[in-house]
Amino acid sequence: MSHNAYITDERIEADDGGPLADRTVAVKDNISTEGVRTTCGSAMLEEYVPPYDATVVERLTAAGATITGKTNMDEFGMGTTTETSAFGPTENPAAPGHVPGGSSGGSAAAVASGDADLALGTDTGGSVRCPAAFCGVVGIKPTYGLVSRYGLIAYANSLEQIGPIAPSVAEAAELLEVIAGPDDHDATTRDASEEGADTDYAAAADDDVTGMKIGIPTELVEGADEAVVETFWDAIDDLEAQGASYHEVDLPSAEHAVEAYYVIAMSEASSNLARFDGVRYGPSPDYEGNWNEEFAGVREEGFGEEVKRRVLLGTYALSAGYHDKYYKKAQDARAWVKADFDEALTEADVLASPTMPVPPMQMGESLDDPLTMYLADANTTPVNLANLPAISVPAGETDDGLPVGMQFVGPAFGEVDIIRAGSALA
Ligand code: GLN
Repeated sequence: MSHNAYITDERIEADDGGPLADRTVAVKDNISTEGVRTTCGSAMLEEYVPPYDATVVERLTAAGATITGKTNMDEFGMGTTTETSAFGPTENPAAPGHVPGGSSGGSAAAVASGDADLALGTDTGGSVRCPAAFCGVVGIKPTYGLVSRYGLIAYANSLEQIGPIAPSVAEAAELLEVIAGPDDHDATTRDASEEGADTDYAAAADDDVTGMKIGIPTELVEGADEAVVETFWDAIDDLEAQGASYHEVDLPSAEHAVEAYYVIAMSEASSNLARFDGVRYGPSPDYEGNWNEEFAGVREEGFGEEVKRRVLLGTYALSAGYHDKYYKKAQDARAWVKADFDEALTEADVLASPTMPVPPMQMGESLDDPLTMYLADANTTPVNLANLPAISVPAGETDDGLPVGMQFVGPAFGEVDIIRAGSALA
């Protein structure tokens, strides 16, 4: 186990046989594992041992996969670098001295270093795609409702999905096949085949992009670093040489996506994290003072700075008098982003952009500047607002050898389209 990729390296053995029989899978530490500590990267849950398995964990073990342990992450999924973890940062195996991305940085690092064959991350605003891009591996954020969230400790329920991370598109698609599908424990899940979708994900990794129409939202390319843009266009040329065609499309709402995402994500987080009060969850206080002081003390000690910032901002955005000004406006922007994607996807099979506008930052570089960190989510957050599927695949490297990811976005339940596009590149 290397690069501080794991918080807990306890193995969970599988049932015999199944499609993942000889595979190991690392699981992000916000996904519940019965009898194995699940911390969400937070001191608040340092001692928390769930009494049940998340649905995805049940599906993994039923498919024969051995779980290698629980991976490091930004506290409660709040971050883009895995540096807000209470258990120390993870290092990027593909770019020493640099962050692995976040918040599922431990999962991507475990795959990139070969510690695990495959991994599960969660993506609320990019947390599967960003670390996949930064570590030079593949990550899929499924359509909202394709994968059960039962047993996932919530950060922002309306945005997040559990998704696979793997060295290749075919392996990520195989893992998706195992975890996808409706679940009685999660009423937001859907049966994709009933929505008319092709669910043969592994078979879709056939490298065949002949005749595929790729839309490129100019807004998601213009703001990116020069080295990233260069690598992006080289990869598009590669796809064109393989028979795909591309055209530019407009996503005018994209410039407001980060703002809308952070208002919604923080609002949901402020509500979800209320349960960490020392009574329901978190270490019990001694009850020597009054209740308000005890409860505040547990939260003061248990939460890190980024989590506190978000709980405070989210509480503010939802409070009487401000609700319409912030939360409702963000919901309107969310509807606008969805409509823009639907429009762009009428003329294109998939949309392509750099996954991240910047290459992996140096460790320690971005921690003091939350706003810059939030802006790095410009290309990933719109997809969560629109509930759509997206994949990040390695597009190449900068001249300094830093990995660059290519993101493909598809229509709702169009996982096969993004898998096909991605397989032609990596
Ligand atoms: N970086 C984004 C955030 O901090 C996304 C996190 C995620 O997808 N969990 O909210």
